[in-house]
Amino acid sequence: MPKNIVIVGGGPAAVWAAIEAKRRDTDARVTLLTDEDCEPYEKPPLSKAVLGGAAAPEHAPIAGGGGLAAHGVELVRQARCIAIDRAARTLATSAGHFPYDALVLATGSVLRELRPLPPSMPRVHYLRTAADARALKAAMDGCKDMIVVGAGLIGLEVASSAAARGIAVTVLEAAPMALARCCDAATSAAIVAEHRHHGVEIELDCALIQATPQQDGRLALESSDGDLYVADIVVVGVGVKPDDALARAAGLETGDGVFVDAWCRTSDPAILAAGDCTRFPGPDGRVHLENWKHAQDQGAVAGRNAAGADDTYTPVPSFWSEQYDLYIQGVGWPSDGARVVRRPMAGKSALAIGVDEGRIVAAVGINAQRDMAAIRRLIERRIAVDPETLADPARPFAEMLKAATR
Ligand SMILES: Cc1cc2nc3c(=O)[nH]c(=O)nc-3n(C[C@H](O)[C@H](O)[C@H](O)COP(=O)(O)OP(=O)(O)OC[C@H]3O[C@@H](n4cnc5c(N)ncnc54)[C@H](O)[C@@H]3O)c2cc1C
Repeated sequence: MPKNIVIVGGGPAAVWAAIEAKRRDTDARVTLLTDEDCEPYEKPPLSKAVLGGAAAPEHAPIAGGGGLAAHGVELVRQARCIAIDRAARTLATSAGHFPYDALVLATGSVLRELRPLPPSMPRVHYLRTAADARALKAAMDGCKDMIVVGAGLIGLEVASSAAARGIAVTVLEAAPMALARCCDAATSAAIVAEHRHHGVEIELDCALIQATPQQDGRLALESSDGDLYVADIVVVGVGVKPDDALARAAGLETGDGVFVDAWCRTSDPAILAAGDCTRFPGPDGRVHLENWKHAQDQGAVAGRNAAGADDTYTPVPSFWSEQYDLYIQGVGWPSDGARVVRRPMAGKSALAIGVDEGRIVAAVGINAQRDMAAIRRLIERRIAVDPETLADPARPFAEMLKAATR
């Protein structure tokens, strides 16, 4: 009997789990269930090319032009998975019941909501799905000014896309620093300076306490300092949390994410999980990541293991972001104890490298793709480095790699 592998989700973790499961066991029946009504699409373009008007969500199918069918995977749309019967190995969904031999959960994240700005409030937008992006783009087509709440990656990408379209943008951030979760203070300051250069106002230390619709329909936001900001539309980008509801209801081990081991197995060996929805073993205990590469790579491992492989997932995490002409990248596991080494760079480029016990643990770069690729290899291969050399722009990183392999 061919193995029945069922995958829940419509993001990169689910798609790569499905593709790799089918590749590993070509006889298996692989079925992907998504609650959306479309071929799974990439999310990164939503806040960039889609809002900018250069692309539509359907232009970037995750499985490529032929969709999942071209990989021998059956796609079931509008199939919201409601419950898992672990004893019977059956999944209850809005599109019927699906039996499984191996199940992969890749349910991704759900948006964090701000109480004064619920998604149902007129002129308030959140951005996670293609439908959200289409609605926001339509609202941007007719708007003069916008407030973005949250100076994280998504909030600043939306600000950049809107400013490029001539919309007056104000970003309100409760923390004293933008991008606090993903970069150091100097890199953050350089990115904020670029936004200001494009006319975007960024207010830090600015907590929102109230939102009031005006008589003309515009929204007025009041900060804890008593300042008032009024705009045509408001976009909220205050982060996401792992969607572990299905796993929790099924009695799997969870805790702000579905607990998995290095093989992507949950507390039930017939069920694996991957992507934004998981918490997995990192260098210092369980960790959670929310980025595209993690979702793709962990999904691929989960899919292969669902089909009988024995692979482990031990990533060097990375993310990227695009704002104006800045290509921002992060790699590695940042640690509080690391010394930050800066390499002087030309123009708008920047590199901040975290060094701990003679090795690079993490780095953030702006317009430094080639250097970041070499730094990733230095991290992966745990090559010993000298901070003085790292700071010297005359010493290519590739040279350090070569020296270590001689
Ligand atoms: C606007 C935007 C821009 C981004 N830009 C970048 C970027 O530039 N760089 C980067 O590294 N990362 C970026 N990310 C993050 C990246 O896209 C995510 O980390 C990645 O999509 C996570 O993949 P995933 O498969 O784990 O989950 P998701 O992509 O969230 O997919 C989960 C899917 O599961 C479906 N689902 C959930 N529950 C059920 C259920 N019960 N039944 C059926 N289906 C269900 C959902 O509808 C969804 O389709 C961005 C994210 C967004 C939203």
